[in-house]
Amino acid sequence: MSSYDVIIIGSGPGGYVSAIRCAQLGLKTACVEGRETLGGTCLNVGCIPSKAMLHATHMLHEAEHNFADMGLKGKSPSVDWNQMLAYKQKTVDTNTKGIEFLFKKNKIDWIKGWATVPEPGKVKVGDDIHEAKHIIIATGSEPASLPGVEVDEKVVVTSTGALTLNKVPKKLVVIGAGVIGLELGSVYARLGSEVTIVEFLDAITPGMDGEVQKSFMKLLKKQGINFVMGAAVQRTDATKTKAKVTYKLRKDDSEHVLDADVVLVATGRKPFYDGLGLDGLGIELTKRGQIAVNDHWQTSVNGIYAIGDVIEGPMLAHKAEDEGMAVAEVVAGKHGHVNYGVIPGVIYTHPEVANVGATEEQLKEAGRAYKVGKFSFMGNARAKAVFAGDGFVKIIADKETDRILGAHIIGPAAGDLIHEVCVAMEFGASAEDLAMTCHAHPTYSEAVREAALACGDGPIHM
Ligand SMILES: Cc1cc2nc3c(=O)[nH]c(=O)nc-3n(C[C@H](O)[C@H](O)[C@H](O)COP(=O)(O)OP(=O)(O)OC[C@H]3O[C@@H](n4cnc5c(N)ncnc54)[C@H](O)[C@@H]3O)c2cc1C
Repeated sequence: MSSYDVIIIGSGPGGYVSAIRCAQLGLKTACVEGRETLGGTCLNVGCIPSKAMLHATHMLHEAEHNFADMGLKGKSPSVDWNQMLAYKQKTVDTNTKGIEFLFKKNKIDWIKGWATVPEPGKVKVGDDIHEAKHIIIATGSEPASLPGVEVDEKVVVTSTGALTLNKVPKKLVVIGAGVIGLELGSVYARLGSEVTIVEFLDAITPGMDGEVQKSFMKLLKKQGINFVMGAAVQRTDATKTKAKVTYKLRKDDSEHVLDADVVLVATGRKPFYDGLGLDGLGIELTKRGQIAVNDHWQTSVNGIYAIGDVIEGPMLAHKAEDEGMAVAEVVAGKHGHVNYGVIPGVIYTHPEVANVGATEEQLKEAGRAYKVGKFSFMGNARAKAVFAGDGFVKIIADKETDRILGAHIIGPAAGDLIHEVCVAMEFGASAEDLAMTCHAHPTYSEAVREAALACGDGPIHM
């Protein structure tokens, strides 16, 4: 029996980051992972492979749509699907190997296999029982489906199957207009699939700023993606090569059927803790089935903590990472903290979409007085030069104090631009603080400054 200060179960962004921080803080650390490779959902079947596919297909889009205008003439590239999948896999492998290297460097033991927790302070993997003063559960999430929709990962697939299809489908139906559905829908639309997204609600990307939702949907439609909104999927009927998707429109209850070569079920994810033995331990769950934790990520059982997708909050890699670092600090007797008010969200389509903090809708509901500064990328020289004038930056600030309350960006590099607003918010900055900061020209970030200026006396280039 080996004994550790801390054993972390799961090596996704929550688990592996926590393991590294625990080791850096001088704790004897092990991480249990049942998968063949480290890195969890994010590195193996989530963030990283999807971003590789988005990059490759965006390059194709650029070649097909914008190269000729820049004087780059010639035939557009043809798609070698197997090579594209190989490129995606190589990207995954380099990253998962990178975590293996970091584990060795930090002297973290990787215990290979699936863990159960027979009692507090003990972790069982195979026939071996390991002792730990602290146990951190970071077992992540798995795709959720719908009643009547049976996933076979070939014709009716989750995001995992959608990243390894054996060919590009002629017709792809995506159930759910959330982040994963829109990103993977974009990938296949750029590859020439006829993509139809069926969504239960009347707007895409639930919870996002209303203006961004409308503008985003318009731009995706321009890229050839079809939407069926307000539609409740009843069932899928699949053969070995095709499927039918039956849905009812909520407005009149009428039933309709869509034909598909592949159906992607992108209706969200649910916490995963199968086989851990939570029942036997008496670990409490939330009403929504997540592991319940207190402000220090401690579960209802002393010495057992939980972080990442398995607890409440946005299912995002960086949220899991922040909790991973913070819980390591707590376990080491320090003060771990996560500012849940400043967690950005990004959609890596083209244009990108990013947000942080409050939406106008939330502030209205809370009755808080606010002002809005908005700037279109059409007024940004750099964006126009690279065919990326679609979209805008919107900054929301407190009406009285000018303190930044949120930002919503749709446009080029939105996922990077959002971070200057995150830093500003962490420092409690006002919109004027951003507006008075010199921004290099010509950069996309000038649009952020202009939106901040629009919260005051007005932007310059509009
Ligand atoms: C297609 C897709 C795209 C995404 N894109 C993004 C993105 O761009 N940005 C972003 O922020 N988020 C993205 N996400 C979400 C992101 O992947 C998750 O939020 C993140 O991986 C959660 O991290 P985690 O550490 O909580 O769990 P996970 O990454 O799910 O890792 C949990 C690990 O625990 C292991 N495990 C489970 N049970 C046991 C056990 N009993 N014993 C041993 N090991 C166990 C699992 O094998 C897994 O490897 C995406 C997700 C998907 C599916």
